[in-house]
Amino acid sequence: MDSLWLVGYEQEIERCKKLYEDFAGGADFVESIYIILDQYYAKNSGAFVPAELPISQVEEATDLMKKDQSLRFRPDLETELFVDLFKTVCKETAKKNPALKLVFNEVNDKTDSYFTNKESIISLEEIDQFRQLLIEEAAIENDMATFLFSIVLSSIYRRQLESIAEVLRTDLYEGGDCPLCGEKPHYGMLRTEDGAKQLECWLCGTRWVHTRVKCPYCNNEEREELGYFTIEGQDLCRVNHCQSCFCYCKIFDLRQLNADGDLVLAIHNLATLNNDLLAGKEGYKPGSGLKWFNDSDLSERED
Ligand SMILES: [Zn+2]
Ligand SMILES: [Zn+2]
Repeated sequence: MDSLWLVGYEQEIERCKKLYEDFAGGADFVESIYIILDQYYAKNSGAFVPAELPISQVEEATDLMKKDQSLRFRPDLETELFVDLFKTVCKETAKKNPALKLVFNEVNDKTDSYFTNKESIISLEEIDQFRQLLIEEAAIENDMATFLFSIVLSSIYRRQLESIAEVLRTDLYEGGDCPLCGEKPHYGMLRTEDGAKQLECWLCGTRWVHTRVKCPYCNNEEREELGYFTIEGQDLCRVNHCQSCFCYCKIFDLRQLNADGDLVLAIHNLATLNNDLLAGKEGYKPGSGLKWFNDSDLSERED
């Protein structure tokens, strides 16, 4: 099984360019990053072994699903693989955005010095510290940091956890966090066949059905405290928000497209970052913790 997570990205980018007006400007950049990742994995197909759930744990996993508890399965990463991918993606980003050349020279130096004496295996927490350091010391913007780290990490975890996601009994699970890795979701969809709300983990790609009138972050089920808005003339992407925890997530109404399972939702997410900015301006926080906008953008009022 190779790079299932990438299947159909070219078509999805084309589709998104037509669906979301504002995506036209960033689409080529996004495509170039997907191509670079695709090439990397094609060249390094033996780079790592996909994780599997030991048979003895399958039953345990099913029990956890019934109790709405996530497996929180997040294996540490190979430092070399992460650094290699991260640098590859940074190099391409600098190439496509010449104005950022100096920033990325700095990022490159910081990457070398941060990872020089690290162990061969690294945790997600350490990678997050590295992300913070780049924002503080290399002056890389929040939205760019979110893009770089989420695309690199999800490319690794999606490949690594795919085989487990396939056997996990997510149909028994009703929690808000990803049943497999425990991350908080950033987006999801309304299924064509029955309109059910299905969340997708931005990190490992697992999808699971979640009660439609319920906040995935604080479990609030008060109908009058849960709502959504859309950008005018573009009602495919709903920004679901909660008046209890003031978090938002994006839900794509796929009933309008009549094209379920094979969609690459991650690209729809990248194509609708304007909705994230609007949510920020309305005072909502990303429940996933992924900041797809910068605080400096919030002050620019659009009257
Ligand atoms: Zn996950
Ligand atoms: Zn909430």
